[in-house]
Amino acid sequence: MRPSWIPPVLTFALLSPVLALPHGGGDFCQRPPPSTVTVTSTTTLVPGYVKPTGPHQNDNPHQHDVPVYTRTGPDQHGVPTYTPASYSSTYTSESNYPTLPPYPVYNSTAVGPTGTAGPTEVPWPPVKTETSSVIPEPSSSSIEPVPSASCRPSAQYFDRVDKAPSVGTLRAAFLFVDFPDFPATTTVQDLFADYTTAPSALYKTMSYGKLTLEPVLIGDKFHRMPLNSADYNMSRGFSTEEHLKYINDGLTAVGDSASFENIDILYVLPPPEASTVTTSAATASNVTTPDNFVISNSITFGQDLYNTWGYKTLNHETGHTLGLPDLYPYDGRPTTTFAGGFDLMGLVAAQSPDFLAWHKWYLGWIEDSQVDCVIDAGSTTHRISPIEIASDTTKAIAIPLNETAYIFAEVRSKNGIDDEACGTGLLLYIADPAVERKSEPEGADLGSIRVIDTKPKSVGCGKTNDDSGVLNDAPLLLGESWDTELGIIVTVKEVDGDDYVVEVEKLSR
Ligand SMILES: [Zn+2]
Repeated sequence: MRPSWIPPVLTFALLSPVLALPHGGGDFCQRPPPSTVTVTSTTTLVPGYVKPTGPHQNDNPHQHDVPVYTRTGPDQHGVPTYTPASYSSTYTSESNYPTLPPYPVYNSTAVGPTGTAGPTEVPWPPVKTETSSVIPEPSSSSIEPVPSASCRPSAQYFDRVDKAPSVGTLRAAFLFVDFPDFPATTTVQDLFADYTTAPSALYKTMSYGKLTLEPVLIGDKFHRMPLNSADYNMSRGFSTEEHLKYINDGLTAVGDSASFENIDILYVLPPPEASTVTTSAATASNVTTPDNFVISNSITFGQDLYNTWGYKTLNHETGHTLGLPDLYPYDGRPTTTFAGGFDLMGLVAAQSPDFLAWHKWYLGWIEDSQVDCVIDAGSTTHRISPIEIASDTTKAIAIPLNETAYIFAEVRSKNGIDDEACGTGLLLYIADPAVERKSEPEGADLGSIRVIDTKPKSVGCGKTNDDSGVLNDAPLLLGESWDTELGIIVTVKEVDGDDYVVEVEKLSR
C-alpha cells in the first residue's frame, strides 16, 4: 500500500523495491522536511514517455550483472567470444531517448491543486511563480551546512540488514568446481592467486583500509559437479532455482572435506575451459554448507571473469552482497547511460572505477561527518577532497530533493585506483534509492543513480568499444558552474591542490 500523500502517478517511482538495496522497516528520513515550494499545477513524471523497444535483456535483472553480450563464436582456443548486443535504433543514445525529467520535488505542507492536503509534485520543468512569497533571491550571506547526520537517508534505504559486512573482515570461500564435460586443466592454486590478491587490494584501497576481503580456499582441488556444465544453463536467463541447484551441487561435491565456519560469502568458480558457464551473478538466497553453516550471499562466476572483465568482476559482484545496486540500465540502453564510466557497479571496466561517495557513505567507508548536507536556502561553501584519497576530510555534498532523492557532489581525480581516469573534477549526480528498476519490456529504467551531464554537447572522453564515454567529462572544472534547474546552482570557485572549493546556491522555492 502506498502512503496516501503520494500522487498515484508517482507510486511506481517511489514505492517499488530496489532489490539490491535494503528494505527493512524504520522511520522515514530523519532530516527536516523539504523546503517550502509553491505548487501551481501537476504534471506526469515522464512526459512524452514512450516505452523502449530495446532488446529484452533478462527476466531477472539482478542475475545479470554485466552488459548483454552476444556469443559470436569460439576463438582460436575454443573459447567463445562475445560482442555487445546491438541496441534498438530507437534508443541508441541519450539524444533520441525520451528525456526523463530529474526527480520531482515535493512540498510536505502545500495544498494540492485539487484541494487535498499533502505533498504535490512540482511541475517539470520547475515553475517559479513571481507572485509567490516563498521564492526569494538566494541569500547573500553564507550559512553553515547542517550536520550531515540529519541528511542521512532513512533506514528503509540505508540500513545494512542481511548484507555482507562492509567494514572489518569479509571472509570469502573460494569453491572451485569442474564438470565431466570440462575437467579442469589448471590448478586451483594458480587461479586462487590470480583472483584473490588484486580484488582484495582494490577493496582495501577503495575502503580506505576499512574492508579486508579475506579469501579462504575450499579444498585444494576442483570439486567435480555431478552434471555436465551445459546441463546447468549457467548463461543469461537462468532462474533462481537453477542458480541454487548449481551452488548446492557445488557444496555437495565438497562433502565433509572442508570447513565453512565463519564464512560470510561463497564464491563458486568454474575452470576457464567451461565455456558454457558464461555469466557471473550474485544471489542473496540462503544456502547450507555440508557442515551445516548457512551462507546468505553467494556468487557464481562465469567466463566473463576470465575473458571479458577480469578480476574487477569479483569486486562488482561482491558489491551486490554488500548491498550495492547495478548502475547500468536494465531497459536495453547502453551500459553507461546513467553513470558513465564512474563506479564499477555501473561498468566493470570503468575509466574511474572507484565507488561513488553515495556508495561509500552507505558502506560506512565515509562517515556522516564527511558529508556536507545542504538543507536551507542560501549560499554555502564547501571544501571537498577527492573520493580516491584516504582522509577524514569532507568527501561529498548532499542536497535533498525530496524524501528519498538527493543531488550529490563529489570530486573525482586520478588518485588511487582511478589513475587512468579521463574525466576528473566535481561530479554531480542524482541519487534516489527508491527508484524502481525496470527492465524492458516493462518500461523505462529511471536508474537509482544518474550523473548530471554538465557538458551535454560534448562527445565525452575515454570511449571504449561500444561503451560511450559521453558522461565521462561530466565533472565540473575550475570556474565552471551548473544550474540544475532544481533550484540548485553549483560552482567550482577554487582548486587548491587536490581539493575543490565549491559554492552551492540553493533557492527557496
Ligand atoms: Zn551487477
